[in-house]
Amino acid sequence: MALFGKPKYTIVRLKKKEMPDGLWTKCEGCSETLFNKTLEDNLKVCPKCNYHFVLGANERINMLLDKDSFVEYDADMVSADPLEFKGPKTYKDKLSQDRAATGLKDAVISGEGLLNGTKVVFAVTDSRFIMGSMGSVVGEKITRAIESATKQKLPMIIVSGSGGGARMYEGMYSLMQMAKTCAALAYHRDAELPYISVLTNPTMAGVMASFAGIGDVIVAEPRALIGFTGPRVIEQTIRQKLPPGFQRSEFLLDHGLIDMIVHRKELKETLGKLVEYLG
Ligand SMILES: [Zn+2]
Repeated sequence: MALFGKPKYTIVRLKKKEMPDGLWTKCEGCSETLFNKTLEDNLKVCPKCNYHFVLGANERINMLLDKDSFVEYDADMVSADPLEFKGPKTYKDKLSQDRAATGLKDAVISGEGLLNGTKVVFAVTDSRFIMGSMGSVVGEKITRAIESATKQKLPMIIVSGSGGGARMYEGMYSLMQMAKTCAALAYHRDAELPYISVLTNPTMAGVMASFAGIGDVIVAEPRALIGFTGPRVIEQTIRQKLPPGFQRSEFLLDHGLIDMIVHRKELKETLGKLVEYLG
């Protein structure tokens, strides 16, 4: 005789827990699910593991410059399509798609504003727009901003978020921007004016190999991917395994490429001190 009758199982149908889109973000550093409001209050840094999320150009301006002090330069400059480039997507399609997605006209915003009360010229690239890559608009806007800083005898600050390097859609026109931006910075240096480069995740290739790599002081956010070529290509070329953490801020600080790693919360204050000291 069975003491206990056959257990009765019933299927319980649970309502799928409602998680509206746009309220939560999964941390890319520790996989924790974070409430967007918490993340935004924390300058888009994971409160658990300190992972620094990508910031858009406008968010960066709001974070670093004094409220309502920013005056934009060349807001309407747009790219031509000199090669009439056609890949899986045409360059024109790619531009209009990223314009719609980001509200930007190209991958950089430049202008002047106050940093803790000191006037600076400021440019920031946005990695959401064709990976923050440098075509003729990015190069020209950055060059004009540097020239304006030189003319006004002001410090120049450029925040890079450019995983894409020089923009292949514009071929040679993109590569020319590397020399052009660096030439403008050389005149700026000749005038004994400071230039601070801030590297954020990711800053690679033709951007890192031009204006982003030649700051008088090079500051980076923690754990940012910074380099020229991706690790796989390097490993194939030199036929050696790369050390762990290669191309991250901490490794590059240890090896002398960058000068300091600054947490996003302290970035404004640090830049303010640098400008004060170098100015
Ligand atoms: Zn995290």
